[in-house]
Formats: sequence, C-alpha cells, structure tokens
Amino acid sequence: MDMLIGGKHISSEDLEDVVNPYNGEVIDTVPIAHRQTVDLAIAEANNAKESLCEMSAFKVSNKLFNVVEKLKANREDFAGLLTSEVGKPINESLVEMDRSIETLKLAAEEAKRIYGESVPLDAGLNGKGFFAFTQRLPLGVVAAITPFNYPLNLTIHKIAPAIACKNMVIVKPPTEAPLTVMKFCELLNEEFPDGVVNTVTGYGSEVGDHLVTSPDINKISFTGSITTGMMISQKAGMKKVTLELGGNDPMIVFADADIDKAVKGVINGAFLNAGQVCMGVKRIIADNEIAEEFAEKLVLETEKLVMGDPSDSKTTLGTLISEKAAMQVEETVNNAVSDGAKILTGGTRDGAFYEATVIDNVTPEMDLVINETFGPVAPIIRVNDVDEAIKVANETDYGLQAGVFTNDYALAMRCAQEIEAGTVFVNKQSTFRTDNMPFGGFKSSGVGKEGIKYAVEEMTKTKLIGLNLR
Ligand code: NAP
Repeated sequence: MDMLIGGKHISSEDLEDVVNPYNGEVIDTVPIAHRQTVDLAIAEANNAKESLCEMSAFKVSNKLFNVVEKLKANREDFAGLLTSEVGKPINESLVEMDRSIETLKLAAEEAKRIYGESVPLDAGLNGKGFFAFTQRLPLGVVAAITPFNYPLNLTIHKIAPAIACKNMVIVKPPTEAPLTVMKFCELLNEEFPDGVVNTVTGYGSEVGDHLVTSPDINKISFTGSITTGMMISQKAGMKKVTLELGGNDPMIVFADADIDKAVKGVINGAFLNAGQVCMGVKRIIADNEIAEEFAEKLVLETEKLVMGDPSDSKTTLGTLISEKAAMQVEETVNNAVSDGAKILTGGTRDGAFYEATVIDNVTPEMDLVINETFGPVAPIIRVNDVDEAIKVANETDYGLQAGVFTNDYALAMRCAQEIEAGTVFVNKQSTFRTDNMPFGGFKSSGVGKEGIKYAVEEMTKTKLIGLNLR
C-alpha cells in the first residue's frame, strides 16, 4: 500500500513487508520513506492550512460523521486486516473497530465544541473597563506517531481530535502494523482537502526522528514505549508534545475481595491482545490470606483460554506481534523462574505464540515486574497487609492505571488516593478505558492526556483578545 501525501499516492524504491505473525505470510508491502519524503509531507500539510481553516466547524463535524459511516460500512474488512497484521483474535479486532468508530464519533461531536471563555480582566489590578475573551486556535501540523498494539484506535485518538480543531496531520504508523491506519487515512482523504491527512511509512529512527526534529511540525502526539518517548522529549525542542507511554499496572486483591470478579479481571487484564496492552494487568498484588484460593481459581480460568488461529472466532489468545517479541517474554519469564518464581500454568512458546502464563512467588525485585512485560503473563506478588500492598504498587517508575479489588470503600478510597497513577479503578482491572475519559499516565508513563476533549485541549493554543471599552 502506498503512502498518502498531499492527496497523492507515493511509493519508494525501498519497500518493507508487512507479515502476518500467525502464518508468516506477507500481507502487503509499504514504502520505506526517507527524509526527503517526510519534508514533502510536511510541505503538503502546511499547504493545506488555508483550505482547512476556511471550513466551518459545522462542515468539519459533518465530514467526520461521514467518515464514521464509511468506517461502519467497512467494519468487518478492517477487522480482518487488523487481525492479520497484529495477530489479535478476530473478536478483539471487532471490538477495536467499534471503539474506533466511537472515538471518531466523539471527535465529530467535539468539533462543534471548540470554545474559548470570557475573562474578567477587572478581577486583576488595572483591568477595569475591558471586555476580554479567549479563542482556542489550531497549532498547525500535528505529527502522530503510533504503536502496533491497537494501531487503529490509538491513531484515531490523535488524528480525529487534531482535525476536529483544524490541524493538519502527518501519521507515522508502526512499521509492523501500518495497513489499517493507512486504509483509514484514505477514507479521511475522500472527505477533506488534499494534504489535511498524510501518511509516511518507514523506520521510526529515520521518519519518526525527522518529524520530531523538524521546525515545521507544531505538535508531536506520540504513543509507544518509554524509551522512544524519552528520546522524543529530548529532541522535540519547543514543540508541544503529548506522550502516552508504557504501563506496569498493579491490581491489588484484598482479603475481602470478590475473588471470582478479581479472577475475571485478570483474565481480561493480563491476556487481552496476548498481554500487549499498555494498561494491562502487569502485577497482581494479592493478600496472603486469599492468595492461594485466588491463584487456584486463576489457573482454572486461564486454562480455558483458546490459543490458535486469530481469524477463528473461537480463538481467545492470538500471537504476539512477532516471534522476536514472544522470545523476549519467554526469556523474562525464564529468568524469573531461575530467581525463584513458580509457573502455575503456561510458560511455553511456539513461534510467535506464548501461552497464557500464571506465575507465583514473584518478588518486586524481579525484572519480570520491574519492567513492562509485553506478553500474556500474570505475575502474583503476595503481600501481608495494606501498607505493603500500596508500597509494592508504587514501587515502579510507571504510573498509567491501577485496579483495587475490595468491598471496603474506605480502604478503596485510601488506595485510590495513595496509588500514583493516572487512573485508579475500584473493583475493575486497570485494563479499562472509555474513549471520552481523560487518559494518560503519571511518572514515566507519560505527559499530557488523551480522550477526545482532552486531546483537543492539547492540540490547540489559547489567544486572549481584550477590548478596552473606556
Ligand atoms: P515503540 O517501539 O516505541 O514504537 C512506537 C512508534 O514510534 C512506532 O511507530 C515506531 O516506529 C516509532 N519510533 C521508533 N523509534 C522512533 C524514534 N527514534 N523517533 C520517533 N519515532 C520512533 O513502541 P511499540 O513497541 O510499537 O509499542 C509498545 C509500547 O507502547 C509499550 O510500551 C506500550 O505500553 C506502549 N503503549 C502505550 C499506550 C498508552 O496510551 N499509554 C498505548 C499503547 C501502547 P517503528 O515501528 O518504525 O519502529
């Protein structure tokens, strides 16, 4: 599939295969762009400024709603493509499609709500006699750099609010899974003037880096790993930057918790998308009093997962993005076992598949839980009391989301206040998000928020206009 730049299809002499991680088949090829092509995309995006800014908010909103209808009409085709490029079970791809449609719809609605506010200058010294108000204005060109795990919805979380507030966009999709995003941008381009949305494929180290350092890009909206995010923040200079980075989310299960509910939470939280979820349950912190019962029930439910062909609707555990990624998970789990952890079920790799794995006797010092393990692994850390549970939950550089299971709401509130994370859910695993909520981590998990309304705030600048009426 070609890139889309200024409304034209552009290729390159260098091509990269997009491979289905389940069967190794080449699905398609994409161009490997170099710096010159990125410069062309930046120029085309800047050229589209006038035609986009001339559109009324009414028109922008209607056009986004038109794309919503197109995406709905192509839901199954897009889901099939998602499954083949990411290896996620088809039912999960259909859920990603439904969320993508919802995210786009939220942006179409938000396009009509880009408000400023009146500002009482007379509340400040010498401010009497003014009528003042603010406007929220577009920033210019937004570069959206996105990861492989939820390639479509996470990219729509950037493109859609950007266009809703009249920014042009250059999308750099993940090299391993670029196709659904590129196809979606074609739909957008049918509605908006050429150059409003552009795609550039190629390696992050060249294409991504050039977008980050270019003086003609006004905003970087990045979702991906902490390592890349840190590099971007060092290189972006004066540009506005939003960073949605990795997670290492805790789930605390207290002695009074509804164990079945907590087990269900882990099945979703640790194994969804083969554990490749930023807000996945990465550390289960279980009270010693119930840890045994909890682990037994968790093993029983884990063994019910069906690993297999991701395009089969009975499959509940697909592949990881690549064999290399599965090997990394295997190595991390094996190291934890060498250090004293005990596999209760799973622990075996087959190509890009890694079994759903429950691992007990994990300690906070193990790499398995110090770093983000991006695979289907549920590590159990046993603790003796509330203080220890909260301490372990916070003993991490990450702070994306967290879940606390208890029926004691005073205890739940204490945890919610003391856990350092962007979101704390009570009686729900961290692996939950609605697309309108403010989403974004504390500590190394990120800078800024997404969730359409919040993304619009990060993609606009505020101008104050003051009329001296005296
Ligand atoms: P990644 O390796 O950081 O890649 C993300 C994107 O950045 C890709 O498009 C990549 O391009 C590009 N990139 C790589 N090096 C770059 C550079 N030097 N400059 C600019 N861009 C560069 O992340 P990933 O492995 O795809 O995704 C997994 C990570 O994303 C996990 O840590 C996960 O927790 C995190 N994540 C966070 C959220 C959130 O909302 N907080 C959501 C989903 C995922 P290439 O593909 O060409 O390398």
